[in-house]
Parts: sequence; C-alpha cells; structure tokens
Amino acid sequence: MVRTAVNLRDDRRVTDAADVTFADLDLREELQRALSSLGYEEPTPIQRDAIPVLLAGRDAMAQAATGTGKTAAFALPILQLLESGHRPPEPTALVLVPTRELCMQVSEAMHRYGRDLNVRCLPIYGGQPIVRQLRELKRGVDVVIATPGRAVDHIKRGTLALDRVRVVVLDEADEMLDMGFQEDLEMILDATPTSRQTVLFSATMPSRINNIARKYLNNPARIHSESAPVAHGESPAVRQTAYMVSRANKTAALGRILDIESPVATIVFCRTRDEVNTLTETLNGRGYRAAALHGGVDQSQRERVIARLRSGSADLIVATDVAARGLDIDQLTHVVNFDVPSAPESYVHRIGRVGRAGRAGVAITLAEPREHRILKTIQRVTGNDIIIEKLPTVADLQTRRLEMTREALVEALAADDLDMFRGVVESLGDEHDFVEIALAAVRLAHEATTGPIGGDDIPDEAPPIGGDNSKKQGDRKEHGKDRLKHHGKENTKDHGKGNGKKSHSADGGGGGITRVQINLGKEAGIRPQDVVGAIANETGMKGREVGGIEISDRFTVVEVPRKRAKDVVAALSATHIRGRKPKARVLPDR
Ligand code: AMP
Repeated sequence: MVRTAVNLRDDRRVTDAADVTFADLDLREELQRALSSLGYEEPTPIQRDAIPVLLAGRDAMAQAATGTGKTAAFALPILQLLESGHRPPEPTALVLVPTRELCMQVSEAMHRYGRDLNVRCLPIYGGQPIVRQLRELKRGVDVVIATPGRAVDHIKRGTLALDRVRVVVLDEADEMLDMGFQEDLEMILDATPTSRQTVLFSATMPSRINNIARKYLNNPARIHSESAPVAHGESPAVRQTAYMVSRANKTAALGRILDIESPVATIVFCRTRDEVNTLTETLNGRGYRAAALHGGVDQSQRERVIARLRSGSADLIVATDVAARGLDIDQLTHVVNFDVPSAPESYVHRIGRVGRAGRAGVAITLAEPREHRILKTIQRVTGNDIIIEKLPTVADLQTRRLEMTREALVEALAADDLDMFRGVVESLGDEHDFVEIALAAVRLAHEATTGPIGGDDIPDEAPPIGGDNSKKQGDRKEHGKDRLKHHGKENTKDHGKGNGKKSHSADGGGGGITRVQINLGKEAGIRPQDVVGAIANETGMKGREVGGIEISDRFTVVEVPRKRAKDVVAALSATHIRGRKPKARVLPDR
C-alpha cells in the first residue's frame, strides 16, 4: 500500500494516503467553501501532511516542488489565522518567494482561497513601481508576498511594518538561496518578532537549508510528502511519455497527441471538477466523444459513463482522482495526466489503470515547464522512465493520418466485397492510368475520414537540454544534472516499437555558455542577487541557470546559456536594477 510519512519530531506518524478529506482538516467554513467552489475534491499529500502541523502553530520544513499543491498547504493555515471582523493594517503573514512570477501566483492563490474572508494580499517585487506598494501598505494588508530584495528595500525605508507578523513562509527556499538571497532572508527574519511561526518550503534540502533552519526555525516538524518509495517494478509495463506545454496550449496539444496515438479508450485525469467539466466540453466541441466523471456525478450517471466507454460510444473519460477510484475498465489503452499529479503515488495509481494483465498501455503526462521538477521526482521515486517527447507537429499529424488511410485500405483490400466497384475502375481504365485512378480514390477515402488539421504547430516548452557547466558564484551550486530523458520529434511516429529512439546527450542541444555585460557595477550598488533576480524575473529562467557573475566598479558580467543570451539582453534592457535602467550586450567569445 502507498503510504505517506510525516516525521513529527522523533515520532513517525504514518497516514493512509486516500482517507483524509478537507473536512477532516478542521479548516474554517469560509475556506471549505472556497475550496469546494474551486472544485478541489481532496487534499494533496503535502496539504494533508502540512496543514495540521501549521494549524497547530509549529514551525515546519517541508519538502515539496511546484505542482504538489504546496501553495494551499501554507496559504490555508495562514488564512485560518485571520480575524473575522476588523483587522489591523499591519500584515499578519509574510511569504517570501524567489521570483516575481511566483510572487504573483502565490498572491493570486491566496486571494482565491481567502475570497470569503476578504483577505487583503499584496505582492511586492522589484521592477514594479514602489508607490503603489506604499499606498496599499498604508491602507492595510493581511498577507504580504514579497521577493527578498524588495522586502529589504521596504524594511530599510521603514515602510513595511513587521511587528505584528505571526507567520513567515520561505517558499522555494532552495531557489532563494541559489539566487544569493541568504543575507536578505536573514535580515528580513531578524526584523520579524521572535515569537513568529516560521515555515520553510523547498523542493530540495541541501545543507544550506538546514543551516538557515537551525538558526531561524524552532524545533521544526519535517514534512516530506514524497511518500514512502513506491517499490520499483510495482508500476505496470506501460510506455510513459511526457510533453512540455504551456497551460494555454494544453487542450490543443492533447488533441494532437490523441490524434497521433489513436487510442481505443482513454482516461484523462484533471485536478479539479471545473477542469474536468471544461475539458470535457471542449473535447466534445472538437469532435471527440468525452464523458465527465467527478465527485459531483451521482452513481447512476457514473455507471452510464463507464458503460459508454466500455461499449465504445465514448472514447474518453475525463476524471478527477477521487472519481476514478475503483474504476476498472479492460478496454483502457491510454492514461493522460492533463496536469502532473501532485505526488508519485498518485501517478502510480493513475497509470495502474492501463497495462493490466500484460496488455500494452500508454501513460502520457502534459507538464508545464514549472512542473518539470515534480515530474523528475516522480521519475526518481517510481523508478520509471518517463521520456519527454516533442509535441506532434502539423506535418507529423498529416503523416499519421495518411498512415491511417493506408491501414484502412489494407483492411479493405483484405475484404472480398469489392466486386461492386470493379465496373467503376474498369470503365475509368479506358481513359486513365490505373495508378492515377488509385490516387484519386485514396484521396477521396482520406478526405472522407479525416478533416483538415486546424491551427499551427504548438510551441514545445521542453526546457533547454544540456548541462550548464558554468562556474557558479559563491554558494550557488550546480543543479539539474539528472534531467529526464528527452526524445526528438522523430520519435513521435515511433509508436512504442522501441526502434529508432535517439535521446539527446546531456550536452546536446548545443549552445554552451556566453557572457552578457551590464553597464552597472559596484558603484551602482549592484549585488549578484540583483542580477540573478532581474534575469529570473524578466525571463522566467531559473536562478541556477545563471552562471558566474563578476562585478567590477562600473560593469557586471554574467554568464548565461548561449541560447538565452538574447532574451537576457532584451529583458535586462527593459527593466530596472537598483533603481537604474541598465544597458546590456552580449560579449564576444574569449
Ligand atoms: P502548487 O504546487 O501550489 O503550485 O499547485 C499546483 C496546482 O494544483 C495549482 O493549479 C492548484 O490550483 C492546484 N491544486 C492545489 N491543491 C489542489 C487540490 N487539493 N485539488 C486540486 N487541485 C489543487
């Protein structure tokens, strides 16, 4: 059985994965309402394990990557603390995050969960006019979500009052340390009351995290919801692939993949009820035969949906985890994770729906770039090979459709009921070549069964392949070597036959490192973390993708992956660093 372990001090509490509901977590009414209106059916493992600890007021360090539901794991306990009536203007909670993007995401999530509490959240990050932030701070906020650099600016100006802060969350702590924010974090923590609750979330737990935890956390509970390792080999023999695609392109990408794979019967997993309903409608609108299954579907409707898939009158079931529990459908050939599952055990449960009794099965995961790390964790914990494939292009689809027409013709040739058409072919043969007649007939057959392929190629969001072997500044050390395997586009036509698969080598993808110069240096007060922060904020690159940084009096030189150099120059030229507008350029190779 898959179990999740929570280490509370020395005692080891083991909870059954599936049994805990949001109602069991003792969250206030307003939060329960918000969660159910968002269509969340059950807590994810990190939520199940972290929420009770945080509600009890304990300090905690939790290992969880993006995509696990970690934001709600700390946001809900924070919201639980807020008073119902009049609240003071000073913030009750401070969440520190590495990048502007995450700052906005956390703030939006907090807002959604705290809707019925009228929570006042304020994201504060560099690059945004400080005046607006000042106005909002004066008006009063409950939760401040800040990047460390900008939080320090406010503290120094005396514009961020932290004396009423009861909870501080360090979100993506490893990333913040990678970006060189250690000093800033310490300064911020020192400015908050010592009675505060301190919570640290991190995708990895290098020793630097432990150092900061020793100094600032008080007897923290260690939460590690990655679960007891799923026994290797427990997963069925299923071909497992993933596609990296942005949220906006997911539905279109799913359509393309289904067309290429042409599954017999598929189950598509979504996180929430709303996602199930929306995706079902969209797929039906695009000519697939999809049926929805979620916690709000009653038993008789559920049976109808399953019967439709069994009889072939539906090709796809779109479902939440809760609703799919106990489903056992022999016909299933494909499982699609419309999002990366929140935990490895959930991945294993999902893909266990196919590949039963030695039958072939395929598991496909659509991952947003930011979910790459949880995908890697799933691969590591389950010991499964998940191959990253390139999204099918329009040309791939055309080829696949022609293949399908060919297969249909082979079948028609094998049947012996073609005689009624003989007269047509023979009479045409008087005036036309037989190959030309066949060509015209194939075209008619092809067009009759396949419509046009709408749209253009969908951008593939696979992360750059290849190690960044740049020198690293200070304690920023190299990560990301154990990348998932990537496959080139040539494999999309290779339907699991196990031939012709070529994976890129670790330093494939070409590129290497190049240097970008910025015309600001020590004299302008530039620090490494400002440069990394500006690059990460403006380009979406990870802090660790940025290489060595040399700061002289008037200039800064930073190493970046060659293929991102243009983006970095454009982004830096369009932003402010320490209040100054930098000029950036790529330096010629040495
Ligand atoms: P996070 O790891 O916090 O970035 O969350 C990843 C995604 O999961 C977000 O889109 C959340 O809205 C969603 N999510 C978080 N918790 C749940 C839950 N219990 N059920 C369904 N979706 C969730």
